[in-house]
Amino acid sequence: MPASAPPKTYRVKSFGCQMNVYDGERMAELLAEQGLTAAPENADADLVVLNTCHIREKAAEKVYSDIGRLRREDGSTPLIAVAGCVAQAEGEEIMARAPSVKMVVGPQAYHRLPEMVREAAAGRPSTDTDMPAETKFASLPARRRSGPTAFLTVQEGCDKFCTYCVVPYTRGAEVSRPFADLIDEAHRLVDSGAREITLLGQNVNAWTGEDAKGRAIGLDGLIRELAALPDLARIRYTTSHPNDMTAGLIEAHAVEPKLMPFLHLPVQSGSDRVLRAMNRSHTSDSYLRILEQVRAVRPDIALSGDFIVGFPGETDAEFAETLRLVDTVGYAQCFSFKYSPRPGTPAATMDGQIAPEVMDERLQRLQAALNRDQLAFNRASVGKTCEVLVERRGKRPGQWLGKSPWLQSVHFTGEAAIGDLVRVELLEAGPNSISGQPVAMAAA
Ligand code: SAM
Ligand code: SF4
Repeated sequence: MPASAPPKTYRVKSFGCQMNVYDGERMAELLAEQGLTAAPENADADLVVLNTCHIREKAAEKVYSDIGRLRREDGSTPLIAVAGCVAQAEGEEIMARAPSVKMVVGPQAYHRLPEMVREAAAGRPSTDTDMPAETKFASLPARRRSGPTAFLTVQEGCDKFCTYCVVPYTRGAEVSRPFADLIDEAHRLVDSGAREITLLGQNVNAWTGEDAKGRAIGLDGLIRELAALPDLARIRYTTSHPNDMTAGLIEAHAVEPKLMPFLHLPVQSGSDRVLRAMNRSHTSDSYLRILEQVRAVRPDIALSGDFIVGFPGETDAEFAETLRLVDTVGYAQCFSFKYSPRPGTPAATMDGQIAPEVMDERLQRLQAALNRDQLAFNRASVGKTCEVLVERRGKRPGQWLGKSPWLQSVHFTGEAAIGDLVRVELLEAGPNSISGQPVAMAAA
């Protein structure tokens, strides 16, 4: 490959989960530290990093079409790096299928990106999909990000091996980042304007560590320590696994006012036979009992979950059990997916793969039920007054957009600034957002 001029501008495009968004921000910070500047929206960039997701088929296919679209009118391309879980899963095959890609870097190796960029610009493409446990975070520069909401990855990887899922293969074994590093990163985020931090992990509630006094703590202990940061107003965490939902974490929802009343707890299916085949190690009943305990200590909690329809062998009756579970819970919002066979996972070769049209029909019915419940949850909020954390300006003059404690999108018009916590009366609810007015104005 011929050498090219070292890149001056970059763009990082992240697909998939919030952990990828976090990784994308960290890669941008690494590149900025090397003196590269972010290319303005819609402008050509010298270096493009596609930070990919492998959880479902379409996400990987989308990456290849994105690579194709990066070709310029004169036939040239920017320097292209493929990062994230597709990079981990497919490795060098990516360069064979898309020769314009010059760097392939897995989620545990992206701290090496600057070096790989230098090599690629000198005409030497490279792949790094190593999985050293701690090196990445230790080698990243201090956080630079600013804004009222921030992600903080506290835990990575997964040892649960659900039979449909690639995460244990692409992200590796479960690793908790050290307490001191997290407190340090949280301080930096708050100092640069974060008022809300969302703690991230593939199984975030599996986080364990030792506090400053050497005592063993879990996620609830970490939340308590973070809540002591005076300028941090809100704490959230995602994604949790039902088996790691400790009594301490449930209790934290009762006693810690900065912990927002929102719990994302994936269940995947309402059928115990399907859950066993998925290797989920919880039943629909044990899952519902956890939700009852959380609701007992925090009655207004907004519940969220993930569902997979059309897992191999799922019968109509088993799918009906999923719909019944949805009716029982009354979720505030949810993610639902058609099962996607992932190469190398046990479920991909199971008997009873479900026809696409059956999956489509089940997904539509499930989403209709989830949408109904989301609207009902939003409508039940009308009349409440709550704090809204202002995240950005709306389209109309004087309009602001932010989030309620229950993670609903709220828009209102009035005096505010990004990062403010404004008391808002919720007036009118749609399926995806709620309109409100600041309470001072309501009283006027
Ligand atoms: N660790 C979390 C848990 O198990 O509760 C979920 C993390 S996973 C990255 C996010 C979601 O993607 C899963 O909850 C599941 O619903 C979905 N997912 C994972 N593998 C899938 C597959 N092969 N097909 C469809 N959806 C899948
Ligand atoms: Fe994937 Fe979550 Fe299961 Fe781990 S627990 S294998 S991340 S679905």
